[in-house]
Formats: sequence, C-alpha cells, structure tokens
Amino acid sequence: MKPVPKNGVLDIEIYVPGKSRAPEGIRLHKLSSNETPLGPSPMALEAARGASDKLELYPDGQASALKAAISEVYGLNPANLLCGNGSDELLSLLCQCYLAPGDEAIHTEHGFLVYDIQIRAAGATPVVAPEREATADVDAILERVSARTKLVFLANPNNPTGTYLPFDEVRRLHAGLPGHVILVLDAAYAEYVRRNDYGAGIELVSSTENVVMTRTFSKIYGLAGLRIGWLYGPEEIVQALDRVRGPFNLNALAIAAGAAAIRDRAFTDRAAAFNAEWLEWTTRELEALGLTVTPSVGNFVLVHFPEEPGKGAAEADAYLTERGFILRRVSGYGFPNALRMSIGVEEANRGVVAALGEFLQSSRS
Ligand SMILES: *Cc1c(COP(=O)(O)O)cnc(C)c1O
Repeated sequence: MKPVPKNGVLDIEIYVPGKSRAPEGIRLHKLSSNETPLGPSPMALEAARGASDKLELYPDGQASALKAAISEVYGLNPANLLCGNGSDELLSLLCQCYLAPGDEAIHTEHGFLVYDIQIRAAGATPVVAPEREATADVDAILERVSARTKLVFLANPNNPTGTYLPFDEVRRLHAGLPGHVILVLDAAYAEYVRRNDYGAGIELVSSTENVVMTRTFSKIYGLAGLRIGWLYGPEEIVQALDRVRGPFNLNALAIAAGAAAIRDRAFTDRAAAFNAEWLEWTTRELEALGLTVTPSVGNFVLVHFPEEPGKGAAEADAYLTERGFILRRVSGYGFPNALRMSIGVEEANRGVVAALGEFLQSSRS
C-alpha cells in the first residue's frame, strides 16, 4: 500500500521552463521565456520597494489596489476582475472550478502547454484541435465540441507560434459554442499586437455570459518574477473562481508593483514600439538567411531550420548556447526542428542573426 495521486496526474508531462545557462565568461542573453529585455517600469520597482517595508503584514486578499488600477486603465468594473499568481493560476482555477473527470476541454494543436497540464490536473480530458498553417482553426475547434466540453482555450496570439486569430474569427468561434462552454481567451501578448483586426476580448466578455479573458504582467510589464495575472469575466464566473483561490494569492509586492506598472502607459507604449521595430528587423534578417519564420505579432519568433544533417534546430541551439544566446526548443509543442526566440535588446538580436549566419555557413562546408 502506498499513496497514489488521482487519475490523470501522472499523465502530465512536466513543464520545462526556458533555460538560462551560458558557458562561463560569456555574456548571457536569455531569449527563451518571452521575458522583456527592457525590464519593468521604474515606477513599478519603486512601488515594490515601498511595499517591502511591511512584510510582516498579510497582503490585501482582494488585491483591491491592483483591481482599481486595472479598472482605471481599461474602464472595467472591478466586480468582473480577478487577480492571480500569474495567469497560470487563473488557468488552473478555471480548470479546478469547471472540469471534473469525464469532462473535456479543447486546446489547439500548438497551444500553450499549461492548458494540457491544468486540464489533466483537474482529472479531465484534453481534446486537441488541429491548426492550419500554425494558426488556430475555428472550424476544427467547433467540430470537436461535444456535450462533455466545458472549456475551450485559445491563446491569442498563441505561444510558441506568434500567430493570431482576427477578432471576427474569435466572434465566430464564440457564436458556434453552446452556452455551457466557457471560451478562455488567453491574451498574454495582447499589448504587443499591432493589427487593426485584433481584439484581446474585452468587448466579447462584456457582451456575453461565457467568455473570459486572461492577461499577464509577465510579458510587456516585465514582472514575471512577481507572478501577476488578471482575468476579466462575467461576475458569476469570477465569483466561482474567487471561492477556490488561495485567500492571499497575490503577495504585497505584486499588488503594489502591478498597479504602478499598468498605470505607466508611456513605458508600455515604448516597450511595444521597441518590440515592433526589432520583431520586424529580426524576422526580415532571419528570412534573409534562408530560414523560415512563422509570422508573429508577439515578442518572439518561431524559426524553422532546414531538414538537413547538421543544420537542424538541435545543432543551432547548441551553437547559439555556446555563444551565450539561449533560445527555446519547442519539440514539446510539435515543432521538433524549430527554435523560439524572444526579441531581446539590439545586441542580442544582432548577435543571434550573426551567429545563425555563421552556423548555416559552417554546417554547409
Ligand atoms: C507567458 C504566457 C502566459 C503568462 O503566464 P504567467 O503565469 O502570467 O506568467 C500565459 N499564457 C501564455 C500563452 C503565455 O505565453
């Protein structure tokens, strides 16, 4: 006799975070976890320092100051907001509250791996909808909806592809779902997107009963280390999640820093402009080397390598690591011969392009 976890837990593939090692003495550029190279707003840092004065006190369990800042910036009712210890916690709460053994949840073929983990952790069954050209396919998702389906996860834009669904496609997806299914719009990269036909989902949440949108402070706000996410959804769903979460799921530094970060809109605008410039440059330069790059609207690119011995993603990864550039292997996402590269500082982007140019040359001879 020995303790055994409930069904599903041991079927979970452990999430492997981006690497962060480089050989000794070499400047490291960590481009493996889609963190911003610009760091957080100085105002966020100052707020965190201020909050660190009173660490003996429990934080505000409602994270009211953070909700107030989010509602101020986006014009949302705080009753429709829930904050989480990263958006990962919000995804987990959705699964814990709405999935039971026998239920199904749909995610797309190259969707964020956390969905599969949390669906299984809730004892439910993940259902995978194939993508088209590394982009979510609304019809393929709708074809897989059954009476057992409770959640549909859509990362928009998606990680690790960087592709997105225009908002009219998201609306069509919602229109095809039965009322008992929650559509989860994971908009972790929304602040980076510069497309007129994109929408993170606020309008859809506001006008329906079964859509939630999740956001994060880990990407453009540069606060991944503090773990802050938020969810906008119908009051009934927010209240259900609120019952199950830990009573102090956000720490005091996170509440203070998050509120200051989201109010510093000038900083966020600069970060988005910086990314747009280097995303375009990096895509263009990598394509000029003969590599295939999936068109991205996020702060990263998915780079596909030639199917030739010595020129694949594994060899490129080793070559870049030796030079201090840490990218992400994405075999677990169904791309065994691609690497995901987060957009870094100028030196990092130029360095990766130069190193890959040498790599492709050297492996040819
Ligand atoms: C990075 C990322 C998140 C953010 O997760 P946090 O827990 O908020 O750090 C969420 N969804 C996707 C698709 C991501 O790539």
